[in-house]
Amino acid sequence: MEGCIFCRIIKGEISSQKVYEDDRVLAFRDINPQAPVHIVIVPKEHLATLNDVEDYSLYGDVFKAIKKIALDNGLSEKGYRVVANCKEDAGQTVFHVHFHLLGGRVFKWPPG
Ligand code: AMP
Ligand code: ZN
Repeated sequence: MEGCIFCRIIKGEISSQKVYEDDRVLAFRDINPQAPVHIVIVPKEHLATLNDVEDYSLYGDVFKAIKKIALDNGLSEKGYRVVANCKEDAGQTVFHVHFHLLGGRVFKWPPG
């Protein structure tokens, strides 16, 4: 989608530190990391928010990728957090569905 920063990353118009790619999913390092490992996982299809997902097989593909990315980045043993922010109250700033994979430190719960 025109003007969408993650679509531009997917198209290669904006550079990113890519860590994983398959036919449906791309993952790259977050530009403003909140943990020693902070990777953003995006579907290649432009969907603005989680409310727009209708083909739920997307979640299977995304979480299959997350498991592999966590393993490849040394997070499997101690664990990691996966976050998806949906719309304003959750603090979503990029309106292209994405999941944050965070690891390499201990996280608090509840997150606040
Ligand atoms: P959210 O607040 O859940 O919408 O998360 C958007 C995330 O995208 C933030 O953690 C940003 O740091 C990250 N981000 C924005 N632009 C870029 C970029 N060009 N490359 C990598 N990560 C980005
Ligand atoms: Zn997009």
